[in-house]
Amino acid sequence: MDFIILYHYIEQNKEDEKMECKAIDIHVHVGNLNHWKPWVKDWWQKANPRDFAMIREDGSLNRDAFLNHLKSIGVGYAVILAERSPATTCDVTTQEVLEFCQGEKSLIPFCNINPHLTDDPLRDFRNFLLKGVKGLKIHPVHQLFYPNTPRLYPLYALAQEKGVPVMFHTGSSIFPGAKLKYGNPLFIDDIAVDFPELTIIMSHGGRGFWYDRAQFLVRIRPNIHIDISGLPPRKLLEYFPEMERLKEKFLFGTDWPGAMIDKNIQGVSTLPISPAAKEAILKKNALRVLRIKT
Ligand SMILES: [Zn+2]
Repeated sequence: MDFIILYHYIEQNKEDEKMECKAIDIHVHVGNLNHWKPWVKDWWQKANPRDFAMIREDGSLNRDAFLNHLKSIGVGYAVILAERSPATTCDVTTQEVLEFCQGEKSLIPFCNINPHLTDDPLRDFRNFLLKGVKGLKIHPVHQLFYPNTPRLYPLYALAQEKGVPVMFHTGSSIFPGAKLKYGNPLFIDDIAVDFPELTIIMSHGGRGFWYDRAQFLVRIRPNIHIDISGLPPRKLLEYFPEMERLKEKFLFGTDWPGAMIDKNIQGVSTLPISPAAKEAILKKNALRVLRIKT
């Protein structure tokens, strides 16, 4: 009997190992729902009612249910983002994100630093790196500053030195209090030029009226990438007609829970681009950018 149990256990583990990583989601939000503004909750609930079942009555996300979901849809890794934008969307701290990701290698924590909420952004970033964050998210549109502010340059220098990617929200946000001028991708160009070895991710590819600028920048700057989160996959080739040629520069992401991850994987998989481009966008580029060893 014991032998049979052991046999099944080994078979199950083999199954787990076989579980293929089809995609990496580089843009996921978590945090207790009560830390989000009501308008964000409403928007999410309308955008993705199915996955709302993973949120418990006290507002917390059921981590086991979330992990099982990722596994069942072939998502090998998800980048989990902190965001300290209490005036516009939420206050999800880096500590909260670290706790959510703890002990689970498929969950990759990124810190967020809001320069208005700290007297020493560099000290905070150093501390977060020591605690294990793998990237820095900057949110100029919700937190109202220019991303090329000299105040954040020491953080970009440190990220470059450590080989840690920096992700910037670019383009629109529909939430009250957000100011779109700070989302102009052109400001990211300053950072790309001043830190040529820094890995830069432009979230949403300048969503709204800057897609062409964002695409132009990824073409001419080797260190800039676009994450396609918050964009409907069926529109991607309209926004970025050179996606095939620039396939090494696009990263799959969803802005979950604002979209269903499996549905968007399906959307990218059915685009009229080469299988090599799909594999690069869904997985390979993220493995490289996040320095994941397989
Ligand atoms: Zn987001």
